[in-house]
Amino acid sequence: MDAPYAKLEELEPGIARVLAHNPSAFTYFGTQTYLVGTDEVALIDPGPDLPEHLDALERAIDGRRLAAIMCTHTHRDHSPAARPLAERTGALIIGCAALALETVGPRADASFDGDYAPDRVLHDGEELQVDGDLLTAVATPGHTSNHLCYAWRGALFSGDHVMGWSTTVVVPPDGDMAAYMASLEKLRRRDDRIYYPAHGPAVTNPQQYVRHLVGHRMQRERQILTLVGDRARTIPDIVVSAYPGLDPRLTAAAGGSVLAHLIDLERRRLVERRDDAWTTA
Ligand SMILES: [Zn+2]
Repeated sequence: MDAPYAKLEELEPGIARVLAHNPSAFTYFGTQTYLVGTDEVALIDPGPDLPEHLDALERAIDGRRLAAIMCTHTHRDHSPAARPLAERTGALIIGCAALALETVGPRADASFDGDYAPDRVLHDGEELQVDGDLLTAVATPGHTSNHLCYAWRGALFSGDHVMGWSTTVVVPPDGDMAAYMASLEKLRRRDDRIYYPAHGPAVTNPQQYVRHLVGHRMQRERQILTLVGDRARTIPDIVVSAYPGLDPRLTAAAGGSVLAHLIDLERRRLVERRDDAWTTA
């Protein structure tokens, strides 16, 4: 399939996207950079530092005032283009906090961007004027501890917290299942009309979709509890039973997700760990 790399596509009046050329098992066709606004624009998730993508973003901005360069979080497929774009345009980097970790485990393209340095950090509920309307930061930790979604004119830019094509990777130590579930609950109480995720198609039924995601994780949790209730099991043992037919490239990420569930269950005193094996408490 021909994905529309380096092309400006209008999604609705005032919201457009440019797809970066970084497809992978974790990014779908690549990272979607959103342009928000008409006379003045803000840019959400500038993406990887690829010259072709930076050139496309500069063409898309087309000399309009750039209110801010904003990142939902600092995985390497989201934020590395922020600084070079700030240098090209003179705009400020405003949004999620910096977070420098060597690695988040098995996901090679998801290691943190240690060079990310925002000019201004937005905390939960803080706002920024973009093209005459307020853009609001919605803190949504879970996928990463520094993850923000951004709300503007009834649309929510959901980053990697809610994606349109796959469930979100939640891998310790920075990924946190309890925080992720709480962040889903936070979105469920909002009334956004549409989500624009960093990867995959827009979500046009947000309430129903978030309920489905919560149900999916609760089902996974019950499945893990049943497996470790049966006998002591290691994580690879749980992955084999819980993810039949899994794409081998995703085995490590699935193991990370199982670990995230087990840590959450351990905190709730429902399971306990002995060496590499887990059992019910
Ligand atoms: Zn990410």
